[in-house]
Amino acid sequence: MNPTSSRFDSTLFRIPARSGVAVKLASGMTIKVINTHGHQVVDTWAFNQQDIGESMSMEHSRASMLKLVPKVGDTLRTNHRRAILTLVEDTTPGVHDTLIAACDKHRYEQLGVVGHHDSCTDNLAAALGSLGLKSNETPCPLNLFMNVPVHGNGRLEFAPPVSQAGQYVALRAEMDLIVVLSACPQDVTAVNGMMPTDAHYSIG
Ligand SMILES: [Zn+2]
Repeated sequence: MNPTSSRFDSTLFRIPARSGVAVKLASGMTIKVINTHGHQVVDTWAFNQQDIGESMSMEHSRASMLKLVPKVGDTLRTNHRRAILTLVEDTTPGVHDTLIAACDKHRYEQLGVVGHHDSCTDNLAAALGSLGLKSNETPCPLNLFMNVPVHGNGRLEFAPPVSQAGQYVALRAEMDLIVVLSACPQDVTAVNGMMPTDAHYSIG
């Protein structure tokens, strides 16, 4: 039996396609983010419950980890350089992204979309708003399952996820925090396999 998975409540909560959820976690709790259909990117943020101005920061995390993508055992850091989440389990091939900004209305305008398009930036604001909270910025998310190959010459590419249906990552809270998960609605580039879907999470 997998020692991490066995701790999880069997309750699965849905992250509806194209939308976001906010989840409060006490320090020591773990959230499992499940790529239900295998090709869905989940933009992931974490905020200190006591101070929404302190949030998980990809640039501070990379400086601490000295790697582009967290592996099992790596701890993500806040903009105050404190531990906020630790990756404790990853059943995917380990391909995630820490480089790419959350999608927003400007990105979709740039891609030629006319009129409203759901975005991870709007999903973050709505999810925090459901808790009566507001962030003054959209930190760079931890883009779970997002496949952005870094080529040898430094060139980046947007590629479809390589994770399989049902694969997941588990993240342990290192402080009392709020996690926001957005099932990315990007359907103009290949990052969600051109078909945004639901994802799920459970808490342990
Ligand atoms: Zn997005």
